[in-house]
Amino acid sequence: MQVSRQSATETLNQIAAFRPALKTILDAFAPLLEAQDALAQELCQDLKTAQISLPACQASRLSLGVSLLSDQDLPDLAESYAKAAHALAPHLEKIPALSQLATPLAEVFTGLSLADQKTLREAVCSNSPKLLTDLAKKHNLDPLVLNLAASFVVSALLRGLCQASFDPSAENPWDSNNTWQQGYCPVCGSYPIIAWLDKPVIDERNTYLHEGGGRKHLYCGVCGSDWRFLRLACPSCGVSANRKIEILAEESNTHGEALDWCSQCRSYCPTVDIRERISLPHLEAQALGMLHLELVAHEKKLKPLRASFWNTFA
Ligand SMILES: [Zn+2]
Ligand SMILES: [Zn+2]
Repeated sequence: MQVSRQSATETLNQIAAFRPALKTILDAFAPLLEAQDALAQELCQDLKTAQISLPACQASRLSLGVSLLSDQDLPDLAESYAKAAHALAPHLEKIPALSQLATPLAEVFTGLSLADQKTLREAVCSNSPKLLTDLAKKHNLDPLVLNLAASFVVSALLRGLCQASFDPSAENPWDSNNTWQQGYCPVCGSYPIIAWLDKPVIDERNTYLHEGGGRKHLYCGVCGSDWRFLRLACPSCGVSANRKIEILAEESNTHGEALDWCSQCRSYCPTVDIRERISLPHLEAQALGMLHLELVAHEKKLKPLRASFWNTFA
């Protein structure tokens, strides 16, 4: 993917300029998103130096819908967990739910056993705080709170690993020959936090294109991977029919932003159309900037495909 990508601050400033009501919340999260990006790059360098990378993708597993990390053991990354938690703690402790913890955050993620590392990763990727019950008890924390903190730490680590393992200028191995057909992430198995529509590509044989439209990509907020997906299918239940996918957007000045929601399973995913834009927005920042649409979705009793920190604790 070779489109230039904005920094978190660039995207947040751009959104705040046309949506001033969100400026306070966008400004509040900018340092955290920036810190997470910088940390992922730093971890990537550490992992490259230590010659640690993800296992190679196997087309046979991907075509069966098995994510790369499913059933995989990773090497001991205890030092990287501790480093990530130290770097993020000052930012995370500003989130109200994380400000009054009995144990300092950095301590919770220091000296983790291999088993605890795996549990944290699995809890975050499947968004299952219940898996953290024992670990949370050990530190006198609420599993929901531990899951929230872990989502940032694990995410920085998995992004670093992905950056150390895949060439960003090459086609993603899961996109070649449309090997990956699922609505969840081909690397870590998480559901996407946002979808984006790319500029149109002329390829009449490609069923991933819709007439007059660009390709749809889904983006994983946990490991930072993206993958192509059918334009008119629901990433959650797989239903694929035009009238089942509804669109929720502002009446005017949409800025290419909408929520696609499925009338069958009532899940939604924010979608941004970048066909008219020069650069690709920072995708977490873009998703955060669509909070106003998520509030409407919440009133309609729709569920996010993947709960984010802003739609869990906002
Ligand atoms: Zn992922
Ligand atoms: Zn659905």
